Amino acid sequence: MPCQRIVEGIYLVGGDTLTYAGDCLCYLVAGPPLVLVDAGASLEIGRLSDNILEAGFNPRDIAHLFLTHGHVDHIGGVAALKELSGCRVAAHTDDAAAIRTGDPGRTAANWYGIELPPVTVEDELQGVSGDVAGIRWIHIPGHTPGSIAAYVDHPAGRVLFAQDVHGPFSQQFRSDKDQWRASMGKLLALEPEILCEGHYGVFNGNAAAKQFIRAQLAAHA
Ligand SMILES: [Zn+2]
Ligand SMILES: [Zn+2]
Repeated sequence: MPCQRIVEGIYLVGGDTLTYAGDCLCYLVAGPPLVLVDAGASLEIGRLSDNILEAGFNPRDIAHLFLTHGHVDHIGGVAALKELSGCRVAAHTDDAAAIRTGDPGRTAANWYGIELPPVTVEDELQGVSGDVAGIRWIHIPGHTPGSIAAYVDHPAGRVLFAQDVHGPFSQQFRSDKDQWRASMGKLLALEPEILCEGHYGVFNGNAAAKQFIRAQLAAHA
């Protein structure tokens, strides 16, 4: 399945049915600089590269890779992407150690039967919010301690890459549901126009975006 344009300059380029089984949804922000949000589960990135090319960009030009959190279905492709592009990796400090070492429990790699190679994290995000390459991020702990959401204010409205809004929660990942509820409140307060989720797709319009977040809150009350 080919890539999908969400709005001008923002594309869905990876995912379970787009690239490899088990991949999270991966989003490309044209910038410049060229930024990828999450890298999928697969250690291979051939199909992801093909989709980026199809969107009109060279995957070798990816300058920054944002990791929304340290789960294998979002970080499997990191090593191959770094080898291809030399991109800098950004992740929150509270998930960075698990990402660097490929910790089988905290990354859930043991659920997938994948052995993650060690990788480097060049931009270790500290605190509750910040900016990398013109993309804003906020800390949304809960699903994992170092979960972040990234967002860009596009002419079409605020595009929010919140990824695993839906959970799940596990002691193995050091999940914290109370923190997660507070984090969902932060996402609602951002008033997204478009919500790019990690597995459930793209929600267009502020009402649809907030409805999805509120439905998750209700499901995990
Ligand atoms: Zn996850
Ligand atoms: Zn996921």
